Amino acid sequence: MHFERTQYEYMKIIGLTGGIGSGKTTIANLFEFLNIPVYYSDVRARFLMENDPIIINSMKEHFGNQVYSDTGILNRKFLGEIIFKFDAERTWINAIVHPAVGIDFSHWILNQQSKFVLKESALLIETLSIQPVDKIILVIASLPIRIQRVSKRDQLSEAEVKRRIRIQISDEERIKFANYIITNDGNKSIIQQTLKLYKTILSDLTND
Ligand code: ATP
Repeated sequence: MHFERTQYEYMKIIGLTGGIGSGKTTIANLFEFLNIPVYYSDVRARFLMENDPIIINSMKEHFGNQVYSDTGILNRKFLGEIIFKFDAERTWINAIVHPAVGIDFSHWILNQQSKFVLKESALLIETLSIQPVDKIILVIASLPIRIQRVSKRDQLSEAEVKRRIRIQISDEERIKFANYIITNDGNKSIIQQTLKLYKTILSDLTND
């Protein structure tokens, strides 16, 4: 029996990951300039936490009403302090949000027209078993640079950034899963690396 495959089934999913402050979002933005559709998992997770009534109710029941402002905006500072401090709270929120992001992604990809799409996610490798991708791009940068970037961007102490980095898996672990690596430590042009990688991915996908 012959089944027609939809464009969605042919479209390759390239995961884009890296540690906190490595520059995942910055690289994803560059791919968007090349007309590659990007799904920003963390942004969508936040959207779902602010708009999905089932998630909102569970969050309020679990953390109390203070997890949202009066206008329904997620109190990220409050949530960040809790989930980066308590493993059980992080596990709880991941169990609620990751499946919802997986479903949201599968709806999003149906509307994309491209040779491949990027899925940007801080926890791509940790969620691979439930949300597989075809290839993985890893963005790396040295620890001191990442700490400096994040403490400046998020107004966090160096110690707090270090603590959040320690909670995640290390780059040594991530490298084992990576098909492509972009180094974003200020030495090599990220524009040139992204352009080169874009061509490599297109060629690899043709040959696969
Ligand atoms: P997170 O996991 O915390 O969301 P991320 O990996 O997505 O971080 P970005 O948000 O892309 O990282 O970058 C972190 C900060 O560093 C941002 O403020 C960004 O503007 C800055 N940054 C990233 N790459 C560079 C670079 N090559 N030169 C200068 N600043 C950079």
